[in-house]
Amino acid sequence: MSGNPATSFAEEHDPIIEAISRLAAFVFGPDRATRLRTAAILLCAVMYLICCLAARMAADIGVMRSFAPAWLAWTSLPAYVVFFLLVRSGRTRRLKDPTLMIPQNVFALLAIAFAYTAVGPHDRGLVLVLLALVTVFGMYTHTPKQSAAIGIVATLVLAATMGILSWLDPVYYPPAHELIRFELLAGSMPVVVLSAYRLSTWRERVATQRRDLRAALEQVQKLAVRDVLTGLYNRRFMQEKLDQSVKRFDRYGERFAVVLIDLDHFKQVNDQHGHKVGDEALQAFASAAMLVLRETDTVARWGGEEFLVVLPNATAGKAAIAMRRLREALSHAPVSASAPGLRVRFSSGIAVHEAPGNVAQILERADKALYQAKRSGRDRDALAARTGT
Ligand code: GH3
Ligand code: MG
Ligand code: MG
Repeated sequence: MSGNPATSFAEEHDPIIEAISRLAAFVFGPDRATRLRTAAILLCAVMYLICCLAARMAADIGVMRSFAPAWLAWTSLPAYVVFFLLVRSGRTRRLKDPTLMIPQNVFALLAIAFAYTAVGPHDRGLVLVLLALVTVFGMYTHTPKQSAAIGIVATLVLAATMGILSWLDPVYYPPAHELIRFELLAGSMPVVVLSAYRLSTWRERVATQRRDLRAALEQVQKLAVRDVLTGLYNRRFMQEKLDQSVKRFDRYGERFAVVLIDLDHFKQVNDQHGHKVGDEALQAFASAAMLVLRETDTVARWGGEEFLVVLPNATAGKAAIAMRRLREALSHAPVSASAPGLRVRFSSGIAVHEAPGNVAQILERADKALYQAKRSGRDRDALAARTGT
């Protein structure tokens, strides 16, 4: 049974619905995109089937040449089997035109041109309606240029067919009649082509706007929780993380460790090497922290040169080990090309939340421990006293 959240409860529990959805996946394809494409191809195939039946009936009453329906059927059937198999197998997935709309359009144009030649002199005008259909169909998948090109090529192909046939066989294709049909075609197709072009343009514009909006939203979401200089989480994010951690402790008893870090003699770094190197030192600290700490740990820039780490399910000992690894990494990490010997050093206060209390209380304990670490010589950790001691 799949855990896919998109699968409804009924689908997961009704064997008939489950069997139908499996069959649908087998016929139409494993993923939504492929299914939409194969469904579009099957829809076109059904339309061909209906047109072939209409051709059969037209031949039966003598309106169409008798060989034509079989020709239409025996070319469309293999063509659509090939289109379907190519799309269903996923081979077209990486193409610019994964539904093969362009080849389908070209095939449709040739089929329409052929059908036009096979219908009797008085009725063949009806076939022209199908041209508009082909152009309209393309507006939902083609680029504006492709949409326009299909309409123009369609008109030209039909015009050429009319011209050549009325020249070769003026009895079955009376030139005056063909001319009238061509005029009607030339009078109506530009509107269809223009509409297809405009609609494709709007479609493309909307798609671009949607992409841009999604990118902007991602950027805004990132900015809302990240510190611009270091790329670490910001104070607001960390505040929420702390609130959640305290709630989890209250509900499930999951303890966590908080480490408040303050860079040592940072003012001197700024004073001796300049503010730019100071910024680089903050970035060097952030890179080392992201590299050394576990994915489940959260590290944030808490203020100017202060950082806060939350380690879920950690004892004071584990937090101290993490700090040792971080110190070790920083001792090998040059801060800036303009101060080659400079290394970042820090002091930290570790507090473990293992008894009921609020966020302010655990932060105060970590802050006191940090003060202790500074007082006892810097470049070290200090462990906060347990609550209530
Ligand atoms: P201690 O070891 O006691 O922590 O000494 P310290 O010099 O680090 O302490 P202090 O709080 O006096 O200095 C902090 C300095 O951090 C002062 C401030 O200019 C600098 N600072 C804060 N934010 C930034 C920043 O974004 N960029 C740079 N370059 N410096 C910053
Ligand atoms: Mg400070
Ligand atoms: Mg400092």
